Amino acid sequence: MEEYLMPKQSKVKKFFRPLSVKVLCVILAAFVAAVSILSFKLYENHNKTVEANTTISETNDALKQINEELEGLKGELEKIKNEKATLEGELKTSKSEKEKLEKKIKELEKKLSKYEKKETSEKKSEKLSNETKKYPSIKVPIKNNGKKVCYLTFDDGPSKNTLKIIDILDAYGIKATFFVTCTGKTEYIKNIQKSGNAIGLHTASHNYSKIYKSEKAYFADLNSVSAAVEKYAGIKSTIIRFPGGSSNSISKNYSKNLMKKLAKSVEKKGYDYFDWNVDSGDASKARPTASYIMSRMKSAVGSQDKICVLMHDSAAKTGTVDALPQMIEWLVSKGYRFEVLTNESPTFHHGIS
Ligand SMILES: [Zn+2]
Repeated sequence: MEEYLMPKQSKVKKFFRPLSVKVLCVILAAFVAAVSILSFKLYENHNKTVEANTTISETNDALKQINEELEGLKGELEKIKNEKATLEGELKTSKSEKEKLEKKIKELEKKLSKYEKKETSEKKSEKLSNETKKYPSIKVPIKNNGKKVCYLTFDDGPSKNTLKIIDILDAYGIKATFFVTCTGKTEYIKNIQKSGNAIGLHTASHNYSKIYKSEKAYFADLNSVSAAVEKYAGIKSTIIRFPGGSSNSISKNYSKNLMKKLAKSVEKKGYDYFDWNVDSGDASKARPTASYIMSRMKSAVGSQDKICVLMHDSAAKTGTVDALPQMIEWLVSKGYRFEVLTNESPTFHHGIS
């Protein structure tokens, strides 16, 4: 056994014999060094891994925080959207309420305007009745059966003055004749008729260049005012007054000898035309005063028994309204009674040259 082992031991010895202990030490040292370096490298890598893991973890935390914030913002966005929808709904409601209110305001404004109109007309009639109380200063009804007759005539209306004139005539219990147009308050034709005053035709437009262009043009305009009288008064008037009178020279500018032709043709058609023999002068100025009108009228009356007085009830002639009561009273003092013009009345023609 020993013999058997021996040779083996000697084989190992033999194997290590050539290597010195020093060389072994060097190899060992090199091995230790290699292991140390490897360990250090491993340690270093481990540290780096730990460090990287820490960074990832931190990044994950940050990401988580961002996500949370994002969730929060989404929630706020949702809230804002809801609020917007609510506000839009409220806006729609406000709009419809605004429309309702505007409609109501318009209705109220209409009512107010109606009320104001009513109030104004009531005030006017009150004022008028107060004015009417100032006259007459003579005894009415006027009792006069003498031969002197006065036909008071008013041209170019109706206007707001027509109603005042009717009131004055009523206060004296007398009647006049209105040669109407359609240039102002045409509907007051009804008031003239109701008050028992007479209505004559004076053309619808009172436009010289239009009515005196030809016979045809004149009658077309006359028919128009005649239709208005039928509409508002329910009568067909057969008395007329030519604008400017039958002796007017203006018509010559538009058609020669027209007035002569018209004077004949109106009578053929069943009309009677009336000029005047007393001019109140209220058309000679834009706004004549009452005293001017009185003075003009007095001198025009003279000693005539039958007088047809020309006056105007157009809107600008407030002086005519002011003059009327004293004019009536002066004429009464001179022995005149008052009549309306009819187809049976005396003729008042200027004579056409
Ligand atoms: Zn006239």
